[in-house]
Amino acid sequence: MQVKQPSGIVPLDYILPDEPLLMMGAGPVPIPKPVSNANAIVINHLGETMTQVIDQIKAMSAYVFQSETARIMGVAGPGSAAMEMAIVNLVSPGDHVLCVCNGFFSNRLAELSDRADANVLRLNINEGEAASLDAVQAAIIKHKPKLLTIVQGETSNTVFNHTLAQISELAHQHNCLVVVDAVCTLSTMPLEMAAWDIDAIITGGQKGLSSIPGVSLIAFSERAWDHILSRKDKLKHWCLDAKLADQFWHGKSYHYTAPVSGVLAIHEALRLVCEETLPARFHRHLRSSTALQAGIEGMGLSLYVEKKHRLNSVVGINVPPNVDAKQLLQTMSVDYRVEISGSFGPDIVRIGQMGEQSRAHNLFRTIHALGASLNSLGVSMDVPAGMSALESTLQWFDQSKTAEQSLTPQ
Ligand SMILES: *Cc1c(COP(=O)(O)O)cnc(C)c1O
Repeated sequence: MQVKQPSGIVPLDYILPDEPLLMMGAGPVPIPKPVSNANAIVINHLGETMTQVIDQIKAMSAYVFQSETARIMGVAGPGSAAMEMAIVNLVSPGDHVLCVCNGFFSNRLAELSDRADANVLRLNINEGEAASLDAVQAAIIKHKPKLLTIVQGETSNTVFNHTLAQISELAHQHNCLVVVDAVCTLSTMPLEMAAWDIDAIITGGQKGLSSIPGVSLIAFSERAWDHILSRKDKLKHWCLDAKLADQFWHGKSYHYTAPVSGVLAIHEALRLVCEETLPARFHRHLRSSTALQAGIEGMGLSLYVEKKHRLNSVVGINVPPNVDAKQLLQTMSVDYRVEISGSFGPDIVRIGQMGEQSRAHNLFRTIHALGASLNSLGVSMDVPAGMSALESTLQWFDQSKTAEQSLTPQ
């Protein structure tokens, strides 16, 4: 034997913190009990039970993606694997691809397209701004792409591309397919695959859906699926070949052994979304994120992105002068057991508002941890004012909701 038996390995119980950290960063996010229970189960990856699970996942996904006709599949892998699956199945070598780049993750779509040997044009959007229709139109006319990639929410710098529907319409006027990365946004805000005519949407498990990381979903439009079926070349990717994956997701047969537990977990995550209903879930996220933002500003901090370009799913906060972001995160984690995220560039810290994060009790704890940590690092924060702004915004939403309901005829 060349490799010796390892020494010093301890059971996870010895390493994991006693009190779980409250995961308020940019993902993974806390998961509800039914999701973690499902994740503890292994069943046969083929057969009657699995068929029923898969059928339900597809039916629930049709609702969550808002498309009756989308070809829905799960992917064993991170959100990035689903991104790669969209790209390698829709892009042939030499194809012109336009990548709308707002930040780190939208650039990843460009990188993936590059590696798929596409002819890539990156449309670099000014930092902190959403893509403008004019800029996208000019780039489409110049580059004549077969495919456009865009993120709905750019998690890295908290920018929100709020004109997706119009961008999609514009792209289709030029016979261009549209791929949307909705890893952090799906089920947290409106995204209508059919109505907005989007050709592929990808999402991960660990963000908006509040499932586990490592099992993702992808949905192809009929147009995109026809395009995939019409390809005669053999893909270089075997695991990510959508035609092969389709054998499992629509043909009850073997492609690779599905990550059974993760598939069961995402089933439960989707079931909880359906049970809550999309309108109620969108409202919960809007209320929670708006209140969080009010709380942050209320205690004296400023937000990174201007309101009209700002994402609600992940909130970016400017780090006050003379504060080291790493030290701030460390203090919040060690002293208050709340984790938030640092950044991939700008001097910001980020708080997630995805799935289970968007609950009032988590907001109070997070605002307190942030304010108290800054106070202990010598920056004076008005934590009571932050709490007050948080609470009054939550109440405002409840009152306006009651008003809305009383105005709506039964
Ligand atoms: C997190 C994220 C990804 C990548 O997901 P992984 O599971 O880390 O691969 C891609 N796009 C967006 C918008 C994300 O937020």
